[in-house]
Amino acid sequence: SIYNRINQVEEDVQAYITLTKEEALNQADKVDEKLGNGEKIGPLAGIPIAIKDNMSTEGVKTTCASQILHNYKPPYDATVIKKLAAEDFVMVGKANMDEFAMGSSTENSGIHPTSNPWDLERVPGGSSGGSAAAVAADEAIISLGSDTGGSIRQPAALCGIVGMKPTYGLVSRYGLVAFASSLDQIGPFAKDITDCALALNYIAGHDEFDSTSVDREVPDYTESLNKDIKGMKIGVPTEYFGDGIDQEVKDAVWNAIKKLEELGAEYEEVSLPHTDYALSAYYLIAPAEASSNLARYDGVRYGLRNKEAKGLVEMYKKTRQDGFGDEVKRRIMLGTYALSSGYYDAYYKKAQKIRTLVKQDFDKAFEKYDVLISPTTPTTAFKIGDKSNDPLEMYLSDICTIPINLAGIPALSMPCGLDSKGLPIGLQIIGTHFGEEKILQVAHAFE
Ligand code: GLN
Repeated sequence: SIYNRINQVEEDVQAYITLTKEEALNQADKVDEKLGNGEKIGPLAGIPIAIKDNMSTEGVKTTCASQILHNYKPPYDATVIKKLAAEDFVMVGKANMDEFAMGSSTENSGIHPTSNPWDLERVPGGSSGGSAAAVAADEAIISLGSDTGGSIRQPAALCGIVGMKPTYGLVSRYGLVAFASSLDQIGPFAKDITDCALALNYIAGHDEFDSTSVDREVPDYTESLNKDIKGMKIGVPTEYFGDGIDQEVKDAVWNAIKKLEELGAEYEEVSLPHTDYALSAYYLIAPAEASSNLARYDGVRYGLRNKEAKGLVEMYKKTRQDGFGDEVKRRIMLGTYALSSGYYDAYYKKAQKIRTLVKQDFDKAFEKYDVLISPTTPTTAFKIGDKSNDPLEMYLSDICTIPINLAGIPALSMPCGLDSKGLPIGLQIIGTHFGEEKILQVAHAFE
């Protein structure tokens, strides 16, 4: 079983926070029973899937890699879990992540770090680093992650696999522990585009429990895969090939664009003029929403409680002091500051205006182009410890992915070669709202 493989490599990779072997075996028994009764089994029967530890799983620990939730067992399943269960999937375990999905390296996990399977001294990316590493190390066939500013695409790029952030509203967020609600979106990791399209088929769709989920028919994403890309128009956004991007990364992405041209697509450079402001806007909006979402961890309702405190207010304070890691505290401080009266107009409101401008850049580009292509990350996987003491440097890891979340549009990362150190390089394919099919079509042609 998959657990043989996990036994071989997990000690080195540490992709998981919780392994759910017992539940997985029960699940397998259920499938056997169905088969025995001559019942139909779901298409995901026997497929081992890893779930990022910020998605609620009934009776199974859901920690968000935070000490404040280290023992929290949700009383219900997230909608994505219900959907996969309806197809008889097997949950292998809950994957490691940066605490509350804040980070780009999984070094902010409050449980343990995860290593990149390509080089154990390097980070797998983040925040869904465990989900990406699990698939890259064959400790799962498919996994789910969440992407608020790049947390699926960036680790997919660094681990040499496929990862997709769907359009905001395509996949239900019900049961996903909220980081920044207007940006969060669940999506799949897989080894290839077909598996990614299949996984998306099973998790997409309207959910009355998520008011931001869109009521819209979901196509079969595998159907567009084999259409040829002759005449397709690709935009290459100039701002995504700036000084901060490694030359080797740029070269690999350009080679990919040339290959797509050989396959019949046409490309042109395009400017997305507000790109430079996206990172600053994100680091106001995301922490602002996070500071509000994290107010619920008060020691009363979930997880950790400081028992020494005298009185309620002291208990709140000490619980949060003990339970949250440094990055989470940093975001709460940033967010509450940006939202406080007197500063709200200067920071939060300005950031929201930039968000609109970023979205309009994309809207304009998609009047002309079917997809946009860029690097996913400025560099390949960096060494553990290299950026962990410099939050600003870490924030730059998502410079190519963050604008996409601000605009609410879908994007996918897939491998497009190796650098001179032998580390994988990620290619980002960006589509318009609900343009997943075109993204997958181009990705499959390139693959
Ligand atoms: N690295 C970004 C952050 O720390 C993105 C995280 C994410 O997408 N969850 O906020």
